[in-house]
Amino acid sequence: MNIALIAHDAKKELMVQFCIAYCGILSRHNICATGTTGKLVSDATGLNITRFLSGPQGGGEQIASRIRCNEIDMVLFFRDPLTAKPQEPNDMTLLRLCDVHNIPVATNIATGEVLIHGLERGDLDWRNYSR
Ligand code: PGA
Repeated sequence: MNIALIAHDAKKELMVQFCIAYCGILSRHNICATGTTGKLVSDATGLNITRFLSGPQGGGEQIASRIRCNEIDMVLFFRDPLTAKPQEPNDMTLLRLCDVHNIPVATNIATGEVLIHGLERGDLDWRNYSR
């Protein structure tokens, strides 16, 4: 599966801890991420991560393009709902695209846990056959 990681600044440490906890599962999949999130997670876990531009420079849009091309199977996007972001409209577009293409997306760690356990259990394997 191709999994995209994005974390707003206030949620980056949480994303790092999440990826350390689930490193074993994540290491069996292709991981991509916005620039800073990808660097922090790869430094902390050693995971091989394809890094796009940083979020404010368009990394989220690069991930959105891959969603449009059916190249992403899951998005873990830990959002900070309390701080306004310049890239907010693009973030909304990315979430909309997940709904358009039926991509499982977690916007907080609680849903992230559910998705990662579902991934491990094979609940998302149908995505391999629907291409
Ligand atoms: P970043 O981007 O991982 O490059 O910081 C995430 C974001 O949109 O804040």
